[in-house]
Amino acid sequence: MNLTPASPAAPQPGLEPAAVLQAAAASVFAERAARFKRLATAHPSGDYLVFLAHLSQIQHELLQTHRVVALPSSAQREQAQQHGMPAIAANGWQRDPVWRQHLATLAKRLLPVAPETLRPVLAALIDADTAELERLADGVLRTEYDPAHSARLPLVAAALQVYWTWMATRPELAGLSRLDVPGVCPCCGSLPVASVIQPGQYSGARYLHCSLCNTEWNLVRANCASCGETDKVSYRVLESADGSTHELVRAEVCGDCRSYLKLVLRDKDTSADPVADDLATLALDILVDEAGYLRSGPNPLFIPGNADE
Ligand SMILES: [Zn+2]
Ligand SMILES: [Zn+2]
Repeated sequence: MNLTPASPAAPQPGLEPAAVLQAAAASVFAERAARFKRLATAHPSGDYLVFLAHLSQIQHELLQTHRVVALPSSAQREQAQQHGMPAIAANGWQRDPVWRQHLATLAKRLLPVAPETLRPVLAALIDADTAELERLADGVLRTEYDPAHSARLPLVAAALQVYWTWMATRPELAGLSRLDVPGVCPCCGSLPVASVIQPGQYSGARYLHCSLCNTEWNLVRANCASCGETDKVSYRVLESADGSTHELVRAEVCGDCRSYLKLVLRDKDTSADPVADDLATLALDILVDEAGYLRSGPNPLFIPGNADE
């Protein structure tokens, strides 16, 4: 048999996954709201998921009517890039007070549809003073969740998500590069809520999805998002009583650092959403936690605690 040297394959434009993808401001929260609503059907925590659908819908409306707020200057962005730092660091960026207006709107509009137990929490948020709210925001943005405020913090996080997503989706923030640390968001430095397998243009590529600003950044599949190891990565899925498995959301567990992060197969169902599908599969977290793995990225819309405000 003759061997013919293969000519190098021509680069196929559009197939190389972009390093960083901005969220689509027009649809990211609206699609999440629709996904929460759909997942709520026949779900044991259906009421809770419906409430989160309301919350995401209000986030969507706030983002569509967001006022223009300060962004980092081009010199600041360049400097951040040179030092491998995120463009708008969650921990350190001088926050615009607009996020507190988002919080007030969320609290007021959610009050009529909130579960009975959450209503006093929403009322207290409407009356809280600025210093207290800024303290709560600092906690959320540093991922230091005080379990004593577990009912309030998801609302604070939701307001901050609107503000950060507005900034992250501006044209000025397009074209960011990955950071040296693969496990944090190149835009805001937050941890990922989950990773997603892309459909469409970058079909099959894996991206981590930011828990704050909804930016996605590419990371090779089967690389632990926390420690970067590849050798001891494996997957866990939920199994129903009839033996069928829930394949859309998997836990990617790392035997090296004993951490895990969920992987959402958006290529199998394009309506799947890393935030909504995560909160609809908390049973998987319980299972993986019990097996001795620690979750490596938060979902700030759900903060375990005693909810004792
Ligand atoms: Zn981010
Ligand atoms: Zn690891």
